Amino acid sequence: MNRRHVLGGLAGALGAMATLSAAGRTIEAGFPKPSSRYRRIATEEAFATPPQLDGFRDIGKFLAQGADLSFTQILLGDSDYARDMTPRLLDIGAGRVAQMDADGVDMQVLSLTSPGVQLFSPDTAVAIARESNDILADAIRKHPGRFAGLAAIAPHDARRSVTEMDRAINRLGLNGFIVNSHTNGEYLDEEKFWPILEAAEALDRPIYIHPRSLPETSLAPFRPYGLAGASWGYAVETGTHGMRLLFSGVFDRFPNLKIILGHMGEGIPYWVYRFDHMYATAKRNWGTGSLKEAPSFYLKRNMLITTSGMFSEPVLRYCLEVLGADNILWAADYPYQDNREAAAFLDAARIPEADKVKIYSGNAERVFHIKT
Ligand code: MN
Repeated sequence: MNRRHVLGGLAGALGAMATLSAAGRTIEAGFPKPSSRYRRIATEEAFATPPQLDGFRDIGKFLAQGADLSFTQILLGDSDYARDMTPRLLDIGAGRVAQMDADGVDMQVLSLTSPGVQLFSPDTAVAIARESNDILADAIRKHPGRFAGLAAIAPHDARRSVTEMDRAINRLGLNGFIVNSHTNGEYLDEEKFWPILEAAEALDRPIYIHPRSLPETSLAPFRPYGLAGASWGYAVETGTHGMRLLFSGVFDRFPNLKIILGHMGEGIPYWVYRFDHMYATAKRNWGTGSLKEAPSFYLKRNMLITTSGMFSEPVLRYCLEVLGADNILWAADYPYQDNREAAAFLDAARIPEADKVKIYSGNAERVFHIKT
């Protein structure tokens, strides 16, 4: 592999992040503390645990897994970015609560930062997920009403994932599950993962599919210009995961399963007309496709989207029209994105007040079983 090329792509991704981070601080000065007339529940908020970072340190010694590995090593590195970000990820105590108070965020639904435990070998992933879920549950207990949490699972081992899912909900009182898109190039619609989908449905808790880098086999066209990361590559990866779920028939099999996608649905809502049209055309002409309904039916029934890192009013208004107010949740993507910008965007949005209340809190209370 061309080292300069890889480093060039990495520098591009880093440059984009540094700009965002610096812009966040500038913007923060420009956005006043939001008013207190809403209960703001932020639903894609990242944290890290010491065992997870230890795991990143270990794999960094011998394993090469493209852009994800680069990102994990950035968090461990000696850059201004890491000195700012890594302590904020590790803090799920008083410091984070003080920041939430300063920014007008009432509650964060926490999830282990991407790529979670999915780079690790199955045994290590299972152990670190379990340990991190315990740390998360402890933080929630210590700050009642301020935190909720999504359990990390190790999808590589569906059977042990199901055990942990049950423990996370019924013993730890967590609120759902986080999966960082593909696991070793495999996606949740594949039959080996069905026990995980079945368990989420039975436990009545959603699976949040969070971005990670495209698999190494698909990454090459995205390497130049810093496109592999949050500018585009993450949405291609995670949007593809969402489309696989929509087209695979898993929602006919698990009709009450709820999947959440960040970043206003990773592009999927924009494509509704075209994929419904092409699905019907292919079915009519070539007999392909065995869904009981049009793909968009499942998007509205089984998926929710969040505003994480996509603070654009035109996109919000479009998604509201296409998906309805019950399917959109507020999220900031702390600490990678700015809380106040996330709130100022929704506070100012020209949408019905009742919809705003659903997006800020009502939908999160319902889908994550958060006390009102
Ligand atoms: Mn995120």
